[in-house]
Amino acid sequence: MSLIPCPECTKVVSNQAFFCPHCGYPLHPQIKNVVLKGLRILTEIVRNVFTFLVTLVLLILAIGLLMYVSIRAFDYVYRLFIK
Ligand SMILES: [Zn+2]
Repeated sequence: MSLIPCPECTKVVSNQAFFCPHCGYPLHPQIKNVVLKGLRILTEIVRNVFTFLVTLVLLILAIGLLMYVSIRAFDYVYRLFIK
């Protein structure tokens, strides 16, 4: 066992440690890859949820606008011909 400097915070840590106890930086390449893959997946999920929510809001606005225009058009025709 030897002591190495953390690449992130430069404090001395054991070369056996999986994470830096000072800043949490992943020290082993495999752990680092798992953390990076997890972050990539999390970023993808957040992006997909955001895209879904934006699409949902736009769809609700479009339906609302369509209903508003339909009601106004029906009201116009009603006043013009039926009333
Ligand atoms: Zn560190």
